[in-house]
Amino acid sequence: MGGKAARKRILSGMRPTGRLHLGNLVGALWNWRMLQDDYDCFFMIADYHALMSEYEKPASIPANVREVLIDFLSCGLDPERSVIFRQSDVVEHAELHLVLSCYTPISWLERNPTYKEQLQQLADKDLHNYAFLGYPVLQAADIVLYKANLVPVGEDQLPHLELTREVVRRVNALVGQEVFVEPQAKLTASPRLLGLDRRKMSKSYGNQIDIADPPEVIHKKAMSMITDPLRIKKTDPGHPDDCNVCAYYKIFAPTTADDVADKCRNAKWGCTDCKRHLAEVLTTFLSEPREKRAELEAHPERLREVLAEGATRARAVAQQTMDEIKTLTGLGKL
Ligand code: SF4
Repeated sequence: MGGKAARKRILSGMRPTGRLHLGNLVGALWNWRMLQDDYDCFFMIADYHALMSEYEKPASIPANVREVLIDFLSCGLDPERSVIFRQSDVVEHAELHLVLSCYTPISWLERNPTYKEQLQQLADKDLHNYAFLGYPVLQAADIVLYKANLVPVGEDQLPHLELTREVVRRVNALVGQEVFVEPQAKLTASPRLLGLDRRKMSKSYGNQIDIADPPEVIHKKAMSMITDPLRIKKTDPGHPDDCNVCAYYKIFAPTTADDVADKCRNAKWGCTDCKRHLAEVLTTFLSEPREKRAELEAHPERLREVLAEGATRARAVAQQTMDEIKTLTGLGKL
């Protein structure tokens, strides 16, 4: 009887810059939770990546690591099945970053299309530091350290992954061995969820609903949502397909979305009623993660255990990869 084929490995991560929001839930966590069934998953809390932008006020990073870990666990990431770890607990990330930096031409980083975009998006931070230019190299190290075969990405992140693949090809060619695996994109079609003001949902815009928001905050935020701009009076027929509120119903209460659209088009209810009801839908939807969060907050030792266990498992793989690349590059040998 043949053994079971080895499962493919997946690496993904999140920067700990605060609590996660519905955009993170819909765009990443739902997908990650499913991937655990079929893949060998490594989920990283990328605190080195957070330091790149938060270096002026790093005191927030530990609390944010804790928040992201609670969000991971309360949304179904399972430390029994997946390796859930903090990046800086595995020092090999920094070590491999330096090795890969030696193999990465500066021009590859300067042409990175998201570099300038990020500089603009995070205009409140001074990101003209050496580390920020090189963050795709750290990302490459994060992935290849675990020889991940697949990286879940959206279309917009494909250039990053391409850079990782280029670095892998260059290192493998120069050391004369396939030491690193060229990761493939695992493209995921996730529903598009905009922020309360119809811009991209982002903490930097302050237009997000956090997974951990209590009911009264969810209510306040839902009531502030921008709706169909053409619907002025309650008696005006609305255009649900142009309304962000209806888009939320489609994602979080798909079975009621047709009814909501009908009431909107035929002016059977006003936007205030519609948003109030959405707040109830979201409150119910988020009740399970909220309960799990309360449980974890009451048992902080559980969080420490998860990180310790994750670090041990991640380090075992990372050290092996570092040994291989050190041998091939003559580091640490006489
Ligand atoms: S009734 Fe609802 S779906 Fe229609 S415009 Fe108002 S908030 Fe949007």
